[in-house]
Amino acid sequence: MIVRRHSLRLRRPLETSYGTVTERELLVVALTDEDGVTGYGEAAPLQAYDGISLARVERALERYRPVVEGAVGMNGAEIVDACRRVEDLPEAFAAIDLALWDRAGRRTGHPVASLLTDTPAREVPVNATLSALDRTGAAEQARIAVEQGFGCLKVKVGVGDDAGRVAAVRAVAGPHVALRIDANGAWDEATAERVLGQMARYDIELAEQPVATIDSLARLRRRVPVKVAADECIRSVEDAARLRQLDAADAVILKVQPLGGMGNALRVAEAAGVAAIVSSMMETSVGIAVALHLAAALPELPYACGLETAALLEADVVHQRLVAHQGFMKVRRVVPDRDLLSALAVEDAPAPYEVGS
Ligand SMILES: [Mg+2]
Repeated sequence: MIVRRHSLRLRRPLETSYGTVTERELLVVALTDEDGVTGYGEAAPLQAYDGISLARVERALERYRPVVEGAVGMNGAEIVDACRRVEDLPEAFAAIDLALWDRAGRRTGHPVASLLTDTPAREVPVNATLSALDRTGAAEQARIAVEQGFGCLKVKVGVGDDAGRVAAVRAVAGPHVALRIDANGAWDEATAERVLGQMARYDIELAEQPVATIDSLARLRRRVPVKVAADECIRSVEDAARLRQLDAADAVILKVQPLGGMGNALRVAEAAGVAAIVSSMMETSVGIAVALHLAAALPELPYACGLETAALLEADVVHQRLVAHQGFMKVRRVVPDRDLLSALAVEDAPAPYEVGS
C-alpha cells in the first residue's frame, strides 16, 4: 500500500457557505495485489466542510496498513469492514474501498460499474456548478455552461445575494435548463421557507440541503413548493433509513468520501429509497472515477450528478481528466500518471510516506 499526499490548487477560489476553498490537499492510495495488479483510490477530506483533517486520515490509513497488507483471502467488503473496526473514519476507509473497487475492475478487465450491474450507463448527466458570487459573474458562467451543453446548473446559496444570482442565472439559461440550488444547510427553517417560497418563481429543480437536519428537512418539505435533497445530513445507513421514515426528501446526494466508499454509498441509496445523485468533493479524477462508476450502476438517474468538479482544479493527477462534454461524462477508467503524481506530490509530507508509484 502506497499513500502519498498531493496538493492541487483551484483555478479560482470557490466561495461556499462553509468558507473559501483555494487549494485541495488529498491522498492518493495505490494497492497492488500479489499478481501485480494495482488499484487507485483517494482520500479527500475537506476540513472546513467536514471537520476532518488530512493528518487524521493519514494516521488512520497507517493503522489500516497491517489489515490491508495482511488481507489474504478476504473480499473487498471484508477488508473495508476490518479497517472500520480499527478506526471508524469513513474519509479514510473510503480510500481503501475505492482502490479495491478500481483493482477489482482492472483484474477482471471490466469497468467497475459492470461489477455492480449488467446494464451500466455509458454516460452520466452532470450539472455545472456556478461559483461566482455576483450577478454578472454568475450570469456569465451560466452563459458559458449552457453554451457547453449543460442541461443543469447549480448555484451555491446561503452566500450573499442569492435571489439576485438565481434570477440572473435563470434569465440567461432560459426555461429549458434545470436550475438547482445548494445551501449546504446554511438556512434555518424560517429563512428556508421564505427564500424557497420566493425562489419558486425561477423554477428550481431541487434545493440541496436547505436546512441542516433530517427532521428540519422533513418539516420544511411540507411547507415549500420546491423539491428538496438531503446531502450533509446523510452520513450513514441509519440516517438514510430515518430520511425514508420521515419522508424527508425527494432525493439523496451520495458522496463516496464521507460515506466511506462505494459499498456504503450503495447501501445508503437503498436505505433512503429516493432518487440518488452522486456528487464529488473536488477530488482528483481518480476519486471522481469511482463515483462516476457508482452513478452508472444506479437503476435510474432522474437528476444530473454533481461530478463536474475536476474542471475546478488547476491540475490533476491524470492526463485526460474526467470532465463533461455536452453535459455528459463518459464512463471510463482513469489511471494516474506517474509524472503528474510526482509533480503534484507534497514533498515535505511527514514520514512514513513512501516515494514511488
Ligand atoms: Mg450539496
